[in-house]
Parts: sequence; structure tokens; C-alpha cells
Amino acid sequence: MLDNFVYSPRWWRIDVPSEVVLSKDGVGDLLRLLGEKKKQPFFILDTALKGQTRFKLLLERSGDALFLFDATTSEPRTSDVDSLVKSIQERTPDPDVIVGVGGGSVMDLAKAVGICLKNSKTAAEYQGWGFDMAPGVDVWVAPTLNGTGAELTPIAVLRGPEKKLGINTPLVAPKVAVIDPQLSNGVRKFNRFYTMMDCYYHHYEITRSKTSVKDAVLDAEDGLILCRRVLSRDLSRYDLEAAIDSARASILGGSSSTGGRVGASHAISYGLSNSGPTLSHSVAVTISMLGLAALYPDGGYDETLKYLETNAIPTPRARDYGIDASQVDKMTTTALGMDKLWQSHFGEGWEKTVTREFVRNIYEKIVAA
Ligand SMILES: [Zn+2]
Repeated sequence: MLDNFVYSPRWWRIDVPSEVVLSKDGVGDLLRLLGEKKKQPFFILDTALKGQTRFKLLLERSGDALFLFDATTSEPRTSDVDSLVKSIQERTPDPDVIVGVGGGSVMDLAKAVGICLKNSKTAAEYQGWGFDMAPGVDVWVAPTLNGTGAELTPIAVLRGPEKKLGINTPLVAPKVAVIDPQLSNGVRKFNRFYTMMDCYYHHYEITRSKTSVKDAVLDAEDGLILCRRVLSRDLSRYDLEAAIDSARASILGGSSSTGGRVGASHAISYGLSNSGPTLSHSVAVTISMLGLAALYPDGGYDETLKYLETNAIPTPRARDYGIDASQVDKMTTTALGMDKLWQSHFGEGWEKTVTREFVRNIYEKIVAA
């Protein structure tokens, strides 16, 4: 099964910026490639890898060129990036590659550190699009959670002092992505489930987008089939077949987001994320989808309920994350600013439908749920 995966021909249509290395010994291949290319790496690893034998060699080899990031409490903050950049700059010798091994948060942190090492402003000053930036230090990644697509995307999502927003530039895309579906063996069911829910929403929304290019839609359609297959099973235990499907769907998530665009449930999720500092992206999109039954009559909403039930996951609510009616105004303003996502969902003339009143109603329903 694993051999089939490792030797399978390319299954995505849209070119991706990273060299994709399919592997059945992710840690071994990563260390071998670093050695062959005579790289001087600095490692950013998820704290959760510490107790897992699979990663023992990686932890040993990293020595003190290592930062462990605890992804359980928060996504990476711009302040995490700034302090890590400073401490790496004080080291000798300078690393020529930042290696991120972990879930989406760890990979995003590695991507942000890589670019900020060669650009003088603080990370928060680069949150957004269109900044004039120098190429950073190369970033290599190996995902230990499948479905984020972060192993390929040119975005490093960060929580800043004001808002959660990505550093968006082709310069942050990883140079090398080592994909071994076995690396996700130690992931908790909660993360395995919700990460694939987000992957499913990406593919689902792109297939319905009015502004996505054809090949992105085709990649998203393939991704959707894989996500549905994974989410229809019980994910309480690690299963290689599901992990391989998830790894394939994740790559398609990375490829389809080049030329493809998500829609309304992501627009609504950003308001929720900004108001809920402990709310992870994947749970935020799920809560959004549950408030959008009217916009997604052919899947999205009904399937979300079905997958939650299959995996006995309680229905997530905004109020579990401290979000209430007093934040509806602020969330409405955030979501209204996501013009490209609304345009993706409704096409030209979206402004006629997506009024302040329209968005406010959605949030009122979500906070009352
Ligand atoms: Zn998402």
C-alpha cells in the first residue's frame, strides 16, 4: 500500500512550488537529503513529537539547532516569529535551511521564520499581501498531520497583535516537502478529524467557486472524493489507508489553492477566529458551515452533521470559545472585508447579496446556536 503511494505518478494537475518527496521513511529521507546537500539546518519541531520513537533520530540529530513549538495552545504568533528569528541570528554558523516538522502551525512558523530571517521588519509588518521582500532562508517541511496543505502553500498564517492574517508571498512556499503518511501516526483523533474537515471544506468550496480556474476545480474534485472517503470512516485510531488518502488530499489542497479560491464559510470563519483566540482554524470553519445551511444546500451542511456523528464529535459552538452576541458587529466587519471570498461564492455583483444585514444575520444565528 505504501509502495503504491511512494511510486505513484503525480496525481495533481496544477504545478506546485515545492519539490514533493514521497517517502516511506520520512525522517530517514529528510536527514539523508540534508546530508547529501550539505545543509546546515535549524529545526522547528512540534513538541508532541518528543515522546514518539519515530522522531527520536531527528531530535538527536538536531542537537541544539532546535526549537520546539507547542501547537496545542495557540497558532504561531508574530511575537513567536520575532523572538525565534532573533535567537537564530545570534547563532553561529548561520543555518541555510529551516526545517519544520509538525502540523500546519509548525510549518507556518518555519515558513515565517525563513522569510523574516532575510527581511528586517517585524513579522506583523509583513502580514498581508504585496510587500517588497527579499527571498528568505530555504524552508523544508515534513507534515506530521495530513490535510492542512501547508506543506505547499505560499502562506504563513500568524496571529498578530491586531489580527490573524497570513504572510502571503510565493517566497514563503517550502522548497522541499517530504510526505510520509506514517508520520501522522501519533496525532490525536480531534486533530485528525478537524484537519480533514478543513481540507474537505477547501475542496468543496473550490468546486463551487465562480472564480476558480478549471484545473484547480478538477484537483479540488479529486480532493473532495478522497476527503469524503476519509471522513466517512471512524478516525479514532490511526489507519494507514486513511492516512494515505489524507496525504493525497492535502497535496491536492495545496495545488488547488493555486488558481482556486474558497468561499463563504471561510469568509465567516475569519470573523470567528479573530474573536476567539483559542479557536483553531479548522473548528472555526466547521462552526461557520453549520451556520450556512442555506448557502450550501447540496452537501456542506448536511455532510458536516454526518461526519460529526460518524466520529461521535460533539457539535462545536461559538459560545464554547467565548464568542457571544457582543462580538457580532466586529465579526461582521471582518467578514465583509473578505471581498475575494464572497466574489468566489456569488460571482460578480456579490455586493448586492452580501450586505451588512446579511452577514450580521449569519453571525446572530451562529452565536445563538
Ligand atoms: Zn481552511
